[in-house]
Amino acid sequence: MAEARTRFAPSPTGPLHLGHAFSALTAFDRARAAGGVMLLRIEDIDSTRCRPEWEALIFDDLAWLGIDWPRPVQRQSARLPAYGAALDRLAVMGLTYPCRCRRADIRAALAAPHAPVLGPDGPVYPGTCRTRPMDQAGPDDAIRLNMQAALARLGTLPAFTETGPSHAGRHALDREALIETVGDVVLARRDLGTSYHLAVVVDDAFQQVTEVTRGEDLFEATPIHVLLQCLLGLPSPSYHHHRLIVDEAGKRLAKRDDARALARYRADGATPQDIRRLVGL
Ligand code: GLU
Repeated sequence: MAEARTRFAPSPTGPLHLGHAFSALTAFDRARAAGGVMLLRIEDIDSTRCRPEWEALIFDDLAWLGIDWPRPVQRQSARLPAYGAALDRLAVMGLTYPCRCRRADIRAALAAPHAPVLGPDGPVYPGTCRTRPMDQAGPDDAIRLNMQAALARLGTLPAFTETGPSHAGRHALDREALIETVGDVVLARRDLGTSYHLAVVVDDAFQQVTEVTRGEDLFEATPIHVLLQCLLGLPSPSYHHHRLIVDEAGKRLAKRDDARALARYRADGATPQDIRRLVGL
């Protein structure tokens, strides 16, 4: 059996808060219980929002929590050629197209009597650019996955194993749901040359992650990731989507919730044990 490998994959766009602490501790505890390791991956492809000082604070906060990880850490900003290669493979298979629609174009195309279907990335793309060939791709275009073509190529759809509290079980991908509630997702943003979905799939395989441990808010994105793994011939890890830490109003914590920043608790004299208790561990 391969060594158990979980991962914690923060974006250095602000201070880690209690929700991140719960996520990192869950990934770390689960790896240790299985005799494996938790990897730390810095998801810093969006260079306009990421800052070195936030990254430094991530290392400090995690070490303070008693979490350990193999060095050197992997940064997504160093992996752009790998994402480009994966995108090229999908393009060669004829599964991608360049899209020049801006948000306003998509909103206008969807302004019908019915409310647009919301998928993991927002309104499901209406397919305006679907017939554009890749050789027309310009620097201002995003690259989308042609979902229908991707599903047709696979024939039998894969399934994934989920062990988290809300969705435990085996989940087969659902053709209708992928077409109607996910649609032609963006594989490469116009400004980045990749997208979260593509980068995360390429990296989880490269880092030989055996269990993707992350928050429940990303459960809906998992079929996209499993589909991409299958198309790219990559191994499928198992998934553990954990509960989310919410505030008194029941709202998920966000980076702007500075009051819940770990650095604040540390400065106020809290111990790592206090943090574990606060998040219910
Ligand atoms: N980078 C993502 C975040 O900070 C996590 C992605 C993942 O775990 O797949 O929310």
